[in-house]
Amino acid sequence: MGYAIDTRCIHGEGHRTEDANCSVSYPIYQTASFSHLTPGHNPNGFDYTRESNPTRAYLEENISSLESACDTVAFSSGMAAVSAVFELFRPGDHLLLGEDLYGGVVRLVAQVSRKNGYEIETVDTTDLQLLSERIRPDTRAVYLETPTNPMMRVTDIRKAAGIVHRAGALLIVDNTFMTPYFQNPILEGADIVVHSGTKYLSGHNDTVCGFVCSATRDLADRFRLLSKTTGAALAPFDSWLCMRGLKTLALRMERHKSNAEKVRAWLLEQDIVRDVYYAGSGMISFTVDSAERAEGILKNIRLITFAESLGGAESLLTYPTVQTHPDVPAEQKERLGISDRLLRLSVGIENPDDILADLEQAFHSAL
Ligand code: PLP
Repeated sequence: MGYAIDTRCIHGEGHRTEDANCSVSYPIYQTASFSHLTPGHNPNGFDYTRESNPTRAYLEENISSLESACDTVAFSSGMAAVSAVFELFRPGDHLLLGEDLYGGVVRLVAQVSRKNGYEIETVDTTDLQLLSERIRPDTRAVYLETPTNPMMRVTDIRKAAGIVHRAGALLIVDNTFMTPYFQNPILEGADIVVHSGTKYLSGHNDTVCGFVCSATRDLADRFRLLSKTTGAALAPFDSWLCMRGLKTLALRMERHKSNAEKVRAWLLEQDIVRDVYYAGSGMISFTVDSAERAEGILKNIRLITFAESLGGAESLLTYPTVQTHPDVPAEQKERLGISDRLLRLSVGIENPDDILADLEQAFHSAL
């Protein structure tokens, strides 16, 4: 019987080998290279940090434990992780992408990956009937976020996995918003999980990192090869920062969620609020009655910061149409509801009364 998830945030599976000095906090192995005793003989298997590093390996093991993955590779950003995933495919491969994805992924696909000759289409993966109609015998993978960023649309991972696997394709799920504390895509049938570890996993708005978690050894081996060859592996200090943040993931996620539920209830009572989108965790998107009002709120918040990103201790308010989704075509933004009246709030872990008081004064000043 394994440990509960809050214990695994701190200890992983508990298999850790002690470092030479038995430190309680795992050390930062800030080294580019490792000495060899004799040709081909290095007792702990570490050669060179681009390939592997003990601090990074410790973090990767903990993430694997949380995501029930066979193996996890830590990358220098979420986008480096997503880029590695898109390296799995060959010219002519048919890929289906969820239609409401983080703008950086839309840019990657439109401006970088397309030259690789993939045939890329988008589909509303929340509509499983539509997903089964659009998937083809030559579809290699379905890539989705659930809930989506920023519209919080939810796909049933287990049912989607059934459809995707019947077509012989891979299901890739971005689990950044929910984290393994609230959702385990691999246990629901996903083959690959990606993360912007910059967000809740690290949790302190102080580092940028990403993860690819694989359900099988075969996939894991391909990501290990990609990481050591392309060189986008996470640095030792950033690995340590993420590991330190991860220890409190369970506590933070409970607080993000309870704070977000209070904010949601408050938003629903405001006359100027038109729609509130919430699917759990600490993320809420909402629309107000005009673009001027949205800009007024952004200008007047004091405790909450007007900034891109999410998932840290500090509450952040984001203007998706300008900040996170500028490269999504206008027609697609309109269809999805990413308008100039939409704001996305990453509810932090401050005292909820202070968050509400700041929103109250910013809404009032924006009137
Ligand atoms: N996936 C999601 C859902 C995101 O929100 C982001 C960034 O905001 C990314 C991936 C990319 O991660 P990073 O900014 O760490 O490169």
